[in-house]
Amino acid sequence: MNQTSFTPRVFSGIKPSGGLTLGNYLGAIKRFVGMQGQMETIYCVVDMHAITVWQDPKELANMTREVAAGYLAAGLDPSQSILFNQSQVAAHAELAWIFNCVARVGWMNRMTQFKDKAGSNAEKVSLGLYAYPALMAADILIYQATHVPVGEDQKQHVELTRDIAAKFNHDFKTDFFPLTEPVIEGPAMRIMNLRDGTKKMSKSGESDMERINMTDDADKIAKKFKKAKTDPEPLPETVEGLKDRPEARNLVEIYAALNDMTPEAVIAEYPGAGWGTFKPALADLAVAKLAPISEEMARFMADPAEIDRILGEGAEKARAIANPILRDTYDIVGLLRSDATR
Ligand code: ATP
Ligand code: MG
Repeated sequence: MNQTSFTPRVFSGIKPSGGLTLGNYLGAIKRFVGMQGQMETIYCVVDMHAITVWQDPKELANMTREVAAGYLAAGLDPSQSILFNQSQVAAHAELAWIFNCVARVGWMNRMTQFKDKAGSNAEKVSLGLYAYPALMAADILIYQATHVPVGEDQKQHVELTRDIAAKFNHDFKTDFFPLTEPVIEGPAMRIMNLRDGTKKMSKSGESDMERINMTDDADKIAKKFKKAKTDPEPLPETVEGLKDRPEARNLVEIYAALNDMTPEAVIAEYPGAGWGTFKPALADLAVAKLAPISEEMARFMADPAEIDRILGEGAEKARAIANPILRDTYDIVGLLRSDATR
């Protein structure tokens, strides 16, 4: 098998570690839905990644449903894409163990997400948080996925996935795993925190004011944009004027991504505009785009049994792809299987 012979297949996931944000929508969900129908698409609620930091067991299942509702409300069609939660497909964790034995400690030490999330507390965080990128590589490669749409923050992890695939292929003298491509394109690949333009917007961030949640109502969205940190200058006349203005650039990029336009076109529409003009326009646009999705999310959340049914059906389809790939992997590694048919 050579690298050109893999069927084009998309995999990506979102952690149920908090309410979905505008960053998750623009950097991930909106683009996932856009890839539907172009190639085989597999989308996951990665609950096993969520528990790398503490999650209240009473909340976790509900958060898992809420992320699934976010996907569905944004247009994910379970007849076109496979949608499931990670823990229902055991092959992810089984392949992750093998990848723990392929990946090198030195590679993990370079992962910036671990450094950001562990902060000064690196001795006290879970071993799972450290090993997270090997599980992510397994999530992707258990489907031999060729393309992974992600935000900019996940680029390093997809590159590590390629390193793991390459080392596995080299060590076992095979071409079994593809060298997966990260798909990172468009204006909103790193939406920044509204109160600190040097940090990314995250669902697990400390303050609710630093992010727009997909379920925020119109008043909250308007208030959060109004209070968003900016510099005192108005918008520039050309997009080059956004250089070294991270907060201004962030708001322009959010507008561009929400309205499917380029940052250049946004500046052409609002040259030299003050924040008193631009922020309310941005809030109106965000409400117009998010309100129909959050209404739909609420409709799905009112019927949790239906979400569970969709996730269960998706998991069954996912297992049908993943299990044969896991069996072949075991054979390549030399792990004995008494019943060769299982
Ligand atoms: P957490 O704080 O728990 O890490 P998160 O908001 O970073 O949550 P993830 O579940 O880690 O969300 O990531 C899900 C997807 O959303 C990934 O593809 C990631 O790249 C993307 N994403 C997350 N935050 C942003 C952001 N601020 N801008 C663009 N894309 C983002
Ligand atoms: Mg994250």
